[in-house]
Amino acid sequence: MARKKTKKENIEILDRLMLLHPNAHCELEHSSAFELLIATILSAQCTDVRVNIVTSELFKKYNTPEAFKSLPIKTIENEIKTCGLYKSKAQKIKDTSLMICEEFDGNVPDNLDDLVKLPGVGRKTAGVVLSNAFNVPAIAVDTHVFRVSNRIGIVKENTPEKTEFALMKAIPKDRWTHSHHLLIFHGRRICKARKPECENCNITEYCNFFKSNI
Ligand code: SF4
Repeated sequence: MARKKTKKENIEILDRLMLLHPNAHCELEHSSAFELLIATILSAQCTDVRVNIVTSELFKKYNTPEAFKSLPIKTIENEIKTCGLYKSKAQKIKDTSLMICEEFDGNVPDNLDDLVKLPGVGRKTAGVVLSNAFNVPAIAVDTHVFRVSNRIGIVKENTPEKTEFALMKAIPKDRWTHSHHLLIFHGRRICKARKPECENCNITEYCNFFKSNI
């Protein structure tokens, strides 16, 4: 049976992926922690490209919790409609903005415990905000990080939450945030969900999925 990788192997894998994706970074455009929080809420089941199109107009008009908390829900819905799931996302944006104003003095919290108190903010969204806006090491596990890390065999887990904790053990802390970006870049560009492009991948010799499918 395929085994999990050693920490040394994981570092080698990440070094290889850095060669393949030297520009791996957060692809949600933002200029503040609050903008990143809103963009991440909008990104659920939506591409970053679409979110960036929507937020490039939205944030010109409203980009603070004070502004969003006072907006009619219909206005938010109309602004974000093309991101999908717009009714629930609009409600989360309004409720989160209200809580930030009322309980956090208008500032996005910079710690996990408080971030996950915000309506619509789970560990994944909190991890994205912490690592990208506050430089707090985190490995947010989205669909790409979950799929790619388990395919390779960096971890062997069956839920995103278990994957997050396993990755935190498998990867040195100072590489958590960048590993998140690398695994997302790899998942979007090469290790795609339906048909991974293994012929273009530079970690085949490490990959459990590849070895079990040749
Ligand atoms: S070898 Fe294939 S399955 Fe493995 S990480 Fe690369 S693209 Fe994904």
